[in-house]
Amino acid sequence: MGKFPTKYIFVTGGVTSSLGKGIISASLGKLLTSGGYSVTIQKLDPYINVDPGTMNPYEHGECYVTDDGAETDLDLGHYERFLNHSTSQANNVTTGRIYQTVIQKERKGDYLGKTVQIIPHITDEIKRRIQLLGETGQFDFVITEIGGTVGDIEALPYIEAVRQLKWELEDSALFIHLTLVPYLAAAGELKTKPTQHSVKTLLEAGIQPDILVCRTEHHLGSDIKRKVARFCNVERDAVIESMDASTIYEVPLLMQKEGLDKIVLKKLGLENNTEVKLEKWNAFLTNLQNPKQEITIGLVGKYVELQDAYKSISEAIIHAGTKNSCKVKVNWIHAEEINKTNAAEKLAGLKGVLVAPGFGDRGMEGKIETIKHLRENNIPFFGICLGMQSAVIEYSRNVLGLKDANSTEMNPDTSAPVINLMAEQKEIIEKGGTMRLGAYDCQLTAGSNAYKSYNKNDISERHRHRFEFNNKYKLDLERAGLIATGINPKTNLVEIVEIPTHPWFVGVQFHPEYKSTVANPHPLFCGFIESCINNK
Ligand code: GLN
Repeated sequence: MGKFPTKYIFVTGGVTSSLGKGIISASLGKLLTSGGYSVTIQKLDPYINVDPGTMNPYEHGECYVTDDGAETDLDLGHYERFLNHSTSQANNVTTGRIYQTVIQKERKGDYLGKTVQIIPHITDEIKRRIQLLGETGQFDFVITEIGGTVGDIEALPYIEAVRQLKWELEDSALFIHLTLVPYLAAAGELKTKPTQHSVKTLLEAGIQPDILVCRTEHHLGSDIKRKVARFCNVERDAVIESMDASTIYEVPLLMQKEGLDKIVLKKLGLENNTEVKLEKWNAFLTNLQNPKQEITIGLVGKYVELQDAYKSISEAIIHAGTKNSCKVKVNWIHAEEINKTNAAEKLAGLKGVLVAPGFGDRGMEGKIETIKHLRENNIPFFGICLGMQSAVIEYSRNVLGLKDANSTEMNPDTSAPVINLMAEQKEIIEKGGTMRLGAYDCQLTAGSNAYKSYNKNDISERHRHRFEFNNKYKLDLERAGLIATGINPKTNLVEIVEIPTHPWFVGVQFHPEYKSTVANPHPLFCGFIESCINNK
């Protein structure tokens, strides 16, 4: 239960995109939770897709999945990793979803007799979605990050909605605007004009930001801060410097030094002089920045040019490495570049390899050759989703002798469909939100590497896929040495496969990376990294 009626903090961005609104929101959330408040963070995305589930990672980076099966923006991953608290469908709202709801209501006759318009119908739906989280009564603060940059045409209804909310919520709402203060090397100066213009754009929409967070490559200095304050109508203390950091995990500390949480509390009438202690966070950061050893592992996938496509995996590797006081360097290897003849050479020197999730057959044969090499040479292997499916195919082909073994995703006519479409998927034609999504229970086999990592029998992990291990082949595969060590107790679906005679050969149908946080590095990532460290 919240301590007081929920306070709403709106975070907008100006000047350019990619300034890190997600990390600033997550850092503020971290500081407020450490101060004893309950906080959740929401992302509003001004695009027309109902969710990012149908977007290519090249467009949008990773699609993050919540326990309740929402396919969401990758910023929700940052929120969970920083706050160690689960988000849900309500934490990510898109223009597509807003319009879908309004149009459905219109068809039902909810607005009978009226002209349905952006104002008030779309803006009202936005305001309703923002307040849904507050109305649960669970949160002292709802931080709402508005995607895009002020001035964008598509963000206008959101800006108007939060402008109205500020008046409706009176003292319970606050605006933080994130901008850039660029450094002009030729002039040797930091420039505040883009920030002034960006605030003007907000003012034209009727919003006066309460706090400015200025992203910069150089310290702002008190003269620059004073200038920004004076020309943007904010208090001097409300101009917060956000210097580039060596790791995103340093940002909460930088924000604390700048007093971001203090000024937020003060402006919301919750002034509080107790210094927030980030002991565990600091310990994590110290470990991260002072590793005792370093190893290199491989990540074989198909979006290696774009590391945002595997954001949660990269972060989970950092969490697990830090827990082991080890810096883990990741060699990103394009699956398409690996084949029978070069696998040994491409994977040489790696302490272990993670084979990534994915869709479609590009790079599939490279993943299979990678796994064969890892299996035959006792090199730690961790397969996630398509990575696990690839391991089943590899074993079926090369150990069971089913030369044609495949997933029906790659070859619908294979004579050995060791991975096939789930029964309930067969009738589905719509693409959006129709996969097996969200949290499912799984029971582990005692003694397995999975069991040793989690140190318990029953787990719950998040899924995002259409295809599954085909139980028709389970007995043959187990007799040949590939054991199902994690089973869904309701459906009997195989969720984990392992080779017990191999130091670490674990494939999981689910996505463990979504649940790794700074406070709780994921057990399977920790187990995998430990086995890589031990691989001499
Ligand atoms: N393409 C596979 C499936 O749909 C795996 C999906 C994934 O790796 N997320 O089952």
